[in-house]
Amino acid sequence: MTFDIITIFPNVVEEYINTGIVSNALKKGFVEINVHDLRKWTDDKHKTVDDTPYGGGPGMIMKVEPIYKAIQELKKENTIVAITTPKGKILEQKELSDFSEQKDLHMIILCGRYEGFDQRIHDHLVDYEFSIGKYVLSGGELPALVLIDGITRLIPGVLGNIESLNDESFTDGKLEYPQYTKPEEFNGWKVPEILLSGDHKKIEKYRQKRQKMI
Ligand code: SAM
Repeated sequence: MTFDIITIFPNVVEEYINTGIVSNALKKGFVEINVHDLRKWTDDKHKTVDDTPYGGGPGMIMKVEPIYKAIQELKKENTIVAITTPKGKILEQKELSDFSEQKDLHMIILCGRYEGFDQRIHDHLVDYEFSIGKYVLSGGELPALVLIDGITRLIPGVLGNIESLNDESFTDGKLEYPQYTKPEEFNGWKVPEILLSGDHKKIEKYRQKRQKMI
């Protein structure tokens, strides 16, 4: 599974992918993540990736040419070109799970900045528009990382304990039951006795009862 991330802030992305579960998945070869600086595909002295909007208005818009060139260079036959945008479909666990099953997945992810992208990018170059929620961030790097993290941890073998995925929130239309660890009591706040009982059947029942439906 390969991700090509196109951004004007490669350092933001690199810092995250070299940490924790994603980093382990990279080292073990479950995923390949290539981080590209969009400015590489500019040809003017200032490496310009944005310009003012036609029709006027505030802010700057990401230009079509560098992104077109980047996609031309990176795209393969079965590539999904994804764009981060608050106007996209809000990401859900089911989609992450479906992507995680596509062993040959190759995804190019475009990270926006400024006021977003020239609409021609959305209209002609992109297969999948996704949002991570009904709010606006200053860039697409976090959404791109959310997508990659969410997919990567579901790839079989990436998490040491595969069972930890079974009862997880949003799997089977439920939220996970409450979890506790040592000490048994802190500040007068006690762990529910049933979890200390060692009676696995009762614990299972208790947990099922505490899982909230969504
Ligand atoms: N002017 C745009 C609008 O009102 O829809 C917002 C642009 S935002 C400041 C800059 C970039 O951050 C976007 O192009 C997108 O790549 C990313 N972004 C911001 N919020 C996002 C969200 N909720 N989901 C996905 N991407 C987001």
